[in-house]
Amino acid sequence: MVTVENTVNWLKNFADKIETNKAYLSDLDRAIGDGDHGNNMARGVQAMVEKLDDSEPTSVQAVLKTASMALLSKIGGASGPLYGTALLEMSKQAKEDQIEVKSLVEAGLAGIQKRGKAEVGEKTMVDLWAPVLDHLNKQTLSKEAIDEAVNATKDLKATKGRASYVGDRSIGAIDPGAASSGYLFEAMMEEGV
Ligand code: ADP
Ligand code: MG
Ligand code: MG
Repeated sequence: MVTVENTVNWLKNFADKIETNKAYLSDLDRAIGDGDHGNNMARGVQAMVEKLDDSEPTSVQAVLKTASMALLSKIGGASGPLYGTALLEMSKQAKEDQIEVKSLVEAGLAGIQKRGKAEVGEKTMVDLWAPVLDHLNKQTLSKEAIDEAVNATKDLKATKGRASYVGDRSIGAIDPGAASSGYLFEAMMEEGV
């Protein structure tokens, strides 16, 4: 079940993973983009943790909304509005008492696609969120499945975002936004959300 406590723990665990892997995420972005994804994300999650600690939200909806606003205003780059919108749509979805995690992820993915207009196969974070949603629907999500989805972005050619500028040269590299989203869902699993 999704609760205030496990949602806060989920987002803080995500923040830890971003901080730990900041240099790696920027390295991934250096290969096919401008090398700032790790720093962008770290700035965002730091602000998110501060806001969560300051405001002590008392509903899942408020937790996700608070996180969304912090990420939106602090990540910057292409991924800021995308993560911000994902969390905002998740918060809108989280208004009932019995919240299902798959309906949250579904709403988040819809927000990312509405905002960024990327389809599956364009080498973006959509290529992580979409298979994660499939696995949630089939109750087959695992850390291995998340890793597999992150690694599968290697084979894709980027046709959206900054990585599309390098064209065929993007093939063979992991998409940084898919990798950071992988940490989001690993953290979700670890916290039992
Ligand atoms: P920027 O490209 O502005 O420097 P970041 O480096 O923080 O921003 O984020 C890059 C990531 O954003 C990409 O790896 C990709 O996953 C994601 N991204 C970029 N454009 C889109 C889009 N239109 N839809 C979904 N995700 C996108
Ligand atoms: Mg970048
Ligand atoms: Mg940038």
